[in-house]
Amino acid sequence: MGSGLWDTHAHLDDERFAGDREEVLAEIGREMAGVIDCGCEEKSNLFALDLAEKYPFIYAAVGWHPENLDELPKNYLEKLALWAAQSKVVAIGEVGLDYYWPDNAPREVQKKVFREQMDLAAQLQLPLIIHDREAHGDMLEIFRKDAPRHLEAVFHCFSGSVEMAAELAKKGCYFGFGGTSTYKNARKVREVMLSLPKELLLLETDSPYLAPVPYRGKRNKPLYTKLTAQNMALLLGVAYEEVVAFTEENTLRLFRKIKQSRS
Ligand SMILES: [Zn+2]
Repeated sequence: MGSGLWDTHAHLDDERFAGDREEVLAEIGREMAGVIDCGCEEKSNLFALDLAEKYPFIYAAVGWHPENLDELPKNYLEKLALWAAQSKVVAIGEVGLDYYWPDNAPREVQKKVFREQMDLAAQLQLPLIIHDREAHGDMLEIFRKDAPRHLEAVFHCFSGSVEMAAELAKKGCYFGFGGTSTYKNARKVREVMLSLPKELLLLETDSPYLAPVPYRGKRNKPLYTKLTAQNMALLLGVAYEEVVAFTEENTLRLFRKIKQSRS
């Protein structure tokens, strides 16, 4: 296996990988420690499980994304619990709130499904991988009122304020940084990164979306985590190797099942 680089958030089922998925996977095996592939609905959850079974360096997260609630099966929580029992399923996600797209399910429905998956994660003692787009107010309210005490979570591609990050960090949340942290206009994202203890920072890509500079606008892939790590090193004023080391440590601490599944 490659260096300690972890992409904690990718969607390798996406059709933009149809032409070269095998090459992308071989590259991960050579150059990286591992990737967490996140499901968003039935099909991508099953894809993530399948990929994790086939490739030692791929781990899976299962969940229902707020953009995919029109096809939510009645027994979705039972399905998630069943899948989560597999050794290489290391988190519940991608789940959350998305108020950006007008076609998404109504806010009350999104909140209910998010709370249910949050409770399931706490019950199963698995971390939650959270998507929060234009829903910061309701997300904070849920964390203040409803979050189970021992919930572990990562905010992927966090876009909130320094103040919101500080409040969530106090509750033990981690924060995933990817391509957006390298964009010229993403001052706020970098401020948040600099304000947090490095014990809470994770690397991610959200592949195929949000490729880092200089590939902005192109298809993203897990190995580009390296560019985000280099950028993080520059911003924090530490060596690249140090970023790789502490983000790996953080990844293995939050996603406990990675180590368990290896032993
Ligand atoms: Zn995602």
